[in-house]
Amino acid sequence: MECKRTTGTVFGDRAREDRGQKAFLGKRRQYNRRYMRAWRADPVHQTHERENRDRWNYERKLRDARNDRIPFTNERGERVCGLCRREAPVTEIVRLQVCDYAPHGYVEVRIPYCGQC
Ligand SMILES: [Zn+2]
Repeated sequence: MECKRTTGTVFGDRAREDRGQKAFLGKRRQYNRRYMRAWRADPVHQTHERENRDRWNYERKLRDARNDRIPFTNERGERVCGLCRREAPVTEIVRLQVCDYAPHGYVEVRIPYCGQC
């Protein structure tokens, strides 16, 4: 019985495909970056983002107050990662939080981090 040849790619084709894929991803990231920069520069979008952020902060504070729980702890009172809220933290990371009253428009916030998520 004769074996049919499959339409596989040879090494050169695969390397060319990888380069093409990387170039495509690079162009897409550049486009997305420019698009989001322009989107954030729009005053209407800035207003919506501020309203959403204020609402989310209010809801988070209300939820934390209802739970009567210390931030970054689980239901047993053990400290947990501030991102995944499952693992025990091994370090702290610094994140920037938008703050309209801060001199540069943001403040640094320290969050416990598990190092895995
Ligand atoms: Zn985590």
